[in-house]
Amino acid sequence: MRFAMQEGNRLGAPEEFRLGDQRDADHSAAVLDIDGQVLVSTDSALLAWDGQRFAPVERHPLIVAGLAPSSDVRVRTCGDGSVFAFNARRLLRRDPDPAQPFVELRPMDGGARGIVDVQCGDDNGRAWIGTWSGMVRFDPRAARTPPLRAAPVMERVRMDVEGGKIRWLPLKPESIEVEKFRQIRFEYASPVISTRLHYQSRLLGHERNWVDGGTEGSREFSSLAPGDYSFEARALDETGVAGPPLRYAIHVSAAWYQTGLAMFAALAWIVVLFLLLLRWRSRTLERRNHELETLVSERTEALALRSHELELANKRLSELADLDGLTGVANRRKLEFETDNAWSAARAADAHLAMLLIDVDHFKLFNDTYGHALGDERLKAIAERLSGWVGPGELLARYGGEEFVLLMPGSSIEVALERADAIRRDARHAGQEGTRSSVSIGIAERLKHKPNDAAQLFEFADLALYRAKNAGRDRIEVYTE
Ligand code: GH3
Ligand code: MG
Ligand code: MG
Repeated sequence: MRFAMQEGNRLGAPEEFRLGDQRDADHSAAVLDIDGQVLVSTDSALLAWDGQRFAPVERHPLIVAGLAPSSDVRVRTCGDGSVFAFNARRLLRRDPDPAQPFVELRPMDGGARGIVDVQCGDDNGRAWIGTWSGMVRFDPRAARTPPLRAAPVMERVRMDVEGGKIRWLPLKPESIEVEKFRQIRFEYASPVISTRLHYQSRLLGHERNWVDGGTEGSREFSSLAPGDYSFEARALDETGVAGPPLRYAIHVSAAWYQTGLAMFAALAWIVVLFLLLLRWRSRTLERRNHELETLVSERTEALALRSHELELANKRLSELADLDGLTGVANRRKLEFETDNAWSAARAADAHLAMLLIDVDHFKLFNDTYGHALGDERLKAIAERLSGWVGPGELLARYGGEEFVLLMPGSSIEVALERADAIRRDARHAGQEGTRSSVSIGIAERLKHKPNDAAQLFEFADLALYRAKNAGRDRIEVYTE
C-alpha cells in the first residue's frame, strides 16, 4: 500500500496500485525491497515499480535464482548491504555488491527443516537463521565448504583475571601467553549452516580425551597450572564424522611462586626445618639421656653406699654372732669353729697347737660376796686383761661362765707355759685392791700330749686345770697322763 503525504505532514488515505494483467484474485503478493527498489512478487510474476506503475520484470536475480515469481519469497537486507532472500525451503544470499548473484546456502543439507526467518546480526554480515528445528548461524567470512570439511571458527576468547577483570585475547594467534587467571573461556562456532552439528573440544596438556559439548560452542577452564596447552575444538555431523579441528595454542606462564627457583627455595626451607626439628629432637633426647645417666649414677652411688653400709652391718652382725655379749671376746661357737680349723691346719703341718684353759678362782664366792653385777664387771676386767696377751693368729674365747680358752697355734708347751705364767700374774691386777681374783690355768699341747682330736686336746687341758684347782688354785698345770 502507498499512503500519499498531505499538507501538515499527515498521511492521507491509502492509494491502490494496480498490478495490471498479472493481478489474480486468488494469488497473494509479496512486497520486497532490494537495494532501494520496490518489487512485488506474485505467484505468476515479479513486478518492479517504475515510478508510475508496477511493470513485469523479465530478468532479475531472484528469477534467475528461482525464488520469484512467488508470493512466498521474502527478503532481508543486512546492515552491510548483503541481502538474504528465502522461502520456506530455500535460502539464498547476495553479497553487498548488487552485481553479484544470489548464492544458495542450503541450510537443509545441515538438517534445517524449514526456514522461518532471517535476522541480521551486526554490521559484519553475520546472521541468525530461524528454522523449524532451531537457530543456525551464518558467517560470510567462513568458507562455504561442504559440512565436516570446515573447522569451527574461534569467535572470541575471554579470560577472567584475578580481581574480577575480564580480558579479551586476540583471535587465532600463533600462540598466546597468559598469566595467572581465574577462568579462560573459548567460544567457537562452525561455519556450516546446520542444526545437526555438535561440538567436541579438549585442552591438550590438561585433558586427553575429547569432551562432548553438544550444540554448545564454548568451553571454560579455570586456574590452569603453568605450562603449554593446545585447545582444540571440532564439529561432528549427525553420523559422528568429525571435521578438522580448530587449534589454539596457549602458554600459561608461572607465577613467581610457581617457578623452579621458588619451588627449590620452598623445598630447601622444608629440608632446613626438618633438619632443625631433627637437631632439636636429638638435643632433647641427649638431654634426657644425660638426665637419665645422672639419675642412674646417683642411684648406683646410693645403692653402692647402701650395699657398703649393709656389708658393714653384716660384718658387724657376723662379728656379733661370734662375740660374747658380756666380755666382747670370741664366744664358744667361734672357739669351736676356730679350734677345728687350727686342729686341721696343725695336723696337716704336723705343727704345735697349745690350749690354755683359764678359770677364775672362787668366783661363786665373789658373786656371793659382791653381787652378780660386780661379778660381771670383774669378768669384763679379767677378759680385758687376758686380751692383752693374745698374739697374732691366736684366739681368746669365753668358754662359758668364768672360764676362758686361749688357743695358740704353732706354740710349743714351753711357749704356752711362759704365756700362762704371764697371764696368771697379770690377772691378779684386775679389780680393786683387796677384792682381787686369781686364775688357775690348765695347759695341753698337740705335739707333746698327742690327743686324738681337738675335743681330747680340750679334755687334757681341763684335766690339767682340775689339777691346778686341787693343788690350791692360782697356779698352772701342764697335762700329764
Ligand atoms: P673354783 O675356784 O673351784 O672354780 O670355784 P668357783 O666358785 O669359781 O667355781 P664354781 O663352778 O663353783 O662357780 C662358778 C661360779 O661362777 C658360779 C656362778 O655364780 C659364777 N658365774 C658364772 N657365770 C657368771 C656370770 O656370767 N656372771 C657372774 N656374775 N657370775 C658368773
Ligand atoms: Mg669354773
Ligand atoms: Mg672358778
